[in-house]
Amino acid sequence: MNGIQKKSCAGNHGFFAIVAAVLLAWCAGAWAAPETVLLVSYDGMDLTLTQRLMRAGKLPHLSELKVVPMFGGPVTATKPGHAEVLTGLGYNITGVRTNKDFDSKIQPGWTIFGIVKRERPETFVSAIFSKPQHTGDDLLKDGRREPWYDLAVWAKAGGLDGYFNASEIPRNHSLTTDETMAVVEQHIAKYVAWYQSTHRWQYFIYVHFAAPDRTGHQYGAGSAQWNAEMIRLDAQLGYLRDRLHPEVVLVYSDHGFDAPGARIHAHAPNAFLASNVALQPHGNRWDVVPTLCEVLELPWKTYQPLLLGRSLLLP
Ligand SMILES: [Zn+2]
Repeated sequence: MNGIQKKSCAGNHGFFAIVAAVLLAWCAGAWAAPETVLLVSYDGMDLTLTQRLMRAGKLPHLSELKVVPMFGGPVTATKPGHAEVLTGLGYNITGVRTNKDFDSKIQPGWTIFGIVKRERPETFVSAIFSKPQHTGDDLLKDGRREPWYDLAVWAKAGGLDGYFNASEIPRNHSLTTDETMAVVEQHIAKYVAWYQSTHRWQYFIYVHFAAPDRTGHQYGAGSAQWNAEMIRLDAQLGYLRDRLHPEVVLVYSDHGFDAPGARIHAHAPNAFLASNVALQPHGNRWDVVPTLCEVLELPWKTYQPLLLGRSLLLP
């Protein structure tokens, strides 16, 4: 179905787990929906610059996926971008309008993580957010909530199997982009090992990279520093795929940059989706949750609040 290849073995499961899964699928009269999903976010990774590096052979792991344009707007900023991608809801419901105008109303059950845990409780679900400010989970002094405040409370109380937010890093201990990336890489390795130690079959693993957005603001989109960071991200994508062998991989950027060399993204909806599943081009950020639910065969059209988008899965 839809180009999804079932893996016969994830590498870390015993023979009996495989036999049990085959028997379960056989008893159900059909192969079940995919059970292993890797979702990756590259913050602010511009489509045009990504395609340029792919043509130069610099992003071998991303190049194994099919990359299609996605509209990363109307507000081309991190807070509303990720709120839309991970909930499938608009700012009228999430309360996350721009990077400055926000007071998050996002409930854990509205996020793709809460949906997967509700529909498939046996799934190992972990999430990593790596931008302290714009993918944060703090309660601000003025009482406003950053986007993932309620998600964090629930996740840390055992709602998720793994949850890390870079807002945990003390603000007076400001890290460089390289140091932040190293912390995120440590958490990726930790969660991969954690999942493998559980000997569970199903997983939904999410990693948000703050890169290359911060480097774009500092040195310019497409600069030498930006390109080096993209290559480092691609190596992490390769690591995750080699270790996890996910049936479904979905990589997205939440917005682009104004133009090659730009240090801002005021009007830059030049984002993309990349997947091993065939997807329609020119979707929106709020189509990601319906698409993932369609892949997982979950009844997203019945969800409340109603999802804004549509599935991009090609028949
Ligand atoms: Zn930015």
